[in-house]
Amino acid sequence: MVYKMRYTLAKFMGRMAGPVAKLGPGAGTSFPGIVFLKIAGYDALKQLASELKIGSILITGTNGKTTTTTLLIKLFSKELDIRGSYESNTVTAITTGLLQGRGDIGVFEYGIRDKKHGMPDTIQELIGPVGVVYTTISREHAQVAGVKNPFNQYLEAKTLLTDNMNHGVIVTNADDPRTANIGLNKSKDIKVNYYGVDDKKISDIFEDETVECPNCGNPLEYSHKFMNHRGLYKCPDCGLERPQLNVRLKSIEFEDTKWLLNIEGNLFNYTVNKDVSFKLHLKVPPFGFHNVYNTLASITAFATFTPNPDNIEKTAEYVFNNLDMSFIPPGRFEVVNINGKKVGLGQGDNYDYVIMTGCGEEQAMWENIKQKLIK
Ligand SMILES: [Zn+2]
Repeated sequence: MVYKMRYTLAKFMGRMAGPVAKLGPGAGTSFPGIVFLKIAGYDALKQLASELKIGSILITGTNGKTTTTTLLIKLFSKELDIRGSYESNTVTAITTGLLQGRGDIGVFEYGIRDKKHGMPDTIQELIGPVGVVYTTISREHAQVAGVKNPFNQYLEAKTLLTDNMNHGVIVTNADDPRTANIGLNKSKDIKVNYYGVDDKKISDIFEDETVECPNCGNPLEYSHKFMNHRGLYKCPDCGLERPQLNVRLKSIEFEDTKWLLNIEGNLFNYTVNKDVSFKLHLKVPPFGFHNVYNTLASITAFATFTPNPDNIEKTAEYVFNNLDMSFIPPGRFEVVNINGKKVGLGQGDNYDYVIMTGCGEEQAMWENIKQKLIK
């Protein structure tokens, strides 16, 4: 009884803190969550999270979290009442999102640098997500803390977010051996839906770094790289290879003002508890290769959790065919004119400038772009 009252009070106070927080600088958008957790304690977060009809989805990875979260919210908002937050790397931000009131589903971006700077296993326990979406895990962010060789800790933190999941679905990038391996290790416990690219027109031309097998540590062999370490890989030692795709980019056509994406899906839908399939023909702005992955991640997550699988095609085509570039966070994309061709430079992968050309002159273009970037 005392607990219940404290919980109700905390919820009330937390919600009241919302409008106040907007007035003052500093405390930012997490203030209602801070108030709630201070009064009710961390355990109350479990109850708050369980009030959602379908449950919560956490989006994590090194890159593409914000864009994937944005796209996923766009997709769900056609049919559901959503609680969500962007760039919420803390439990208080997620709590703030949950405090917005009753809803069907929670969609939260969750970034973690390493175990010390986050609490992925605690988050998993308190939020009890029905879905965790992995975008990609790369080394870039791991340099921040100034810790020597922090990448393994970073990878471990990402893994901890789903380690104890015993219900729900993991949505993960099959082209990335690190995120694929997390899925493969969990597939004995819960369902995993994999997404990836199946059109070799998307090709990485400038990274040639050895990628360690996340399973045994030996170098992976790639027959094709789509982007950075994402590609068609196989470990000659332990046999790790790209898992079968549930959602695939079957083909891509590049036009000046539009890209045509052909996507096929066949996956387990958590909400209706059965397999569903779909075929999509999307016309998107020429938004860069990294956003092809963000598109696949958001569509896979949407198709996994929508309560109306019959509408997947209609909803996804509506959202993506009406997309303009404003969904990309500012400062992460620019279109430059090179040799009369419009080329998009996306900074979706932090330090990795991604080029998209869609023609056979990648190398020459890359030289041009590099010169431009150096200037
Ligand atoms: Zn291996």
